[in-house]
Amino acid sequence: MKRIKTPVFLFCLLLVFSIIFPGFAQKRTFDGTPQLQSPQSPRIGFVIHGGAGVISRGSLSPEREVEYKKKLEEAVLAGYRALQDGKSALDAVEIATRILEDSPLFNAGKGAVFTADGTNELDASIMDGKTLGAGAVAGLRRVRNPISLARAVMEKSPHVMLIGEGAEKFAGTQSIELVEPSYFFTQPRWDSLQRIKKEEAAAQPSSSVAKLPENRFGTVGAVALDRDGNLAAATSTGGMTNKKWGRVGDAPIIGAGTYANNGSCAVSATGWGEYFIRLGVAKEICSIVEYRALPVQQAADLVIKKKLQDLGGDGGVIVLDKFGNIGISFNSEGMYRAYIGVDGKPVVEIYKD
Ligand code: ASP
Repeated sequence: MKRIKTPVFLFCLLLVFSIIFPGFAQKRTFDGTPQLQSPQSPRIGFVIHGGAGVISRGSLSPEREVEYKKKLEEAVLAGYRALQDGKSALDAVEIATRILEDSPLFNAGKGAVFTADGTNELDASIMDGKTLGAGAVAGLRRVRNPISLARAVMEKSPHVMLIGEGAEKFAGTQSIELVEPSYFFTQPRWDSLQRIKKEEAAAQPSSSVAKLPENRFGTVGAVALDRDGNLAAATSTGGMTNKKWGRVGDAPIIGAGTYANNGSCAVSATGWGEYFIRLGVAKEICSIVEYRALPVQQAADLVIKKKLQDLGGDGGVIVLDKFGNIGISFNSEGMYRAYIGVDGKPVVEIYKD
């Protein structure tokens, strides 16, 4: 009988050992907390946001608060269940983002804010942490679910970012649903534009409209970790009310509003886009996690509560690492957010405390 070679024998021994003692495959998070990452019980994770801004306690009616919470819970559960069913992180972030895009409560898809010209121009992006594949779209007027077009750009085109009419032409080749621009109309967003225009007319020409608290928040996003240990991130927005001249914010900018890398973390951002672009917020957080080995919460706080704050910007991020650790940070008064806690139950929050 042939003798078994030593390396093969050692490999078999290791295999049997890790099956009998699954804890053998236990890994440590960056802050030293042990977490099980064995193939027998892979950890999944899911976090969403529905925008950051001036959302203080008492600013929402109780009925409105319930509506927001319900929709956030529906979206977070849909994404999480997809992960439980073995779907990919990319599927989960797309599923949840589409639900929020279809809700008029959020500034993405239906319910998007209006530009200064009275149109709706939508931006979105998605990133695959496994391959670093990315897709982004900007300035869309007729795509019902911009996040699905962003994914199509990533998976079905040789490009990363498509804008305006060209992007919509591509959508037409990809069975992506196109709608009449009037689909995006909602009365409250229209009224906001009128109010902001009035305030702008009354203010000095040099004053920045972006400073008006009402003209942003409601962007949506999601980050996911699937059973195979892959991360993904997605962000979708209508941008800022009264935006001019084809303005594009951070949401469709890979590295600013969205980033995912299995080697570090997945991030989706919301807030004053110009600042997030200048700081490259999403990639900055992932780089801090990767190179400084900080836990995601600390990395997020460093960028949002220090760097963004010092520069004068505001907003927030949701972050997830490959061990399922969650980081949520914002320097605004509130941020619509939801995640699945360790007990498997959804946690939905709006205010700072
Ligand atoms: N970041 C978005 C933008 O600047 C707006 C937001 O998140 O509320 O377009």
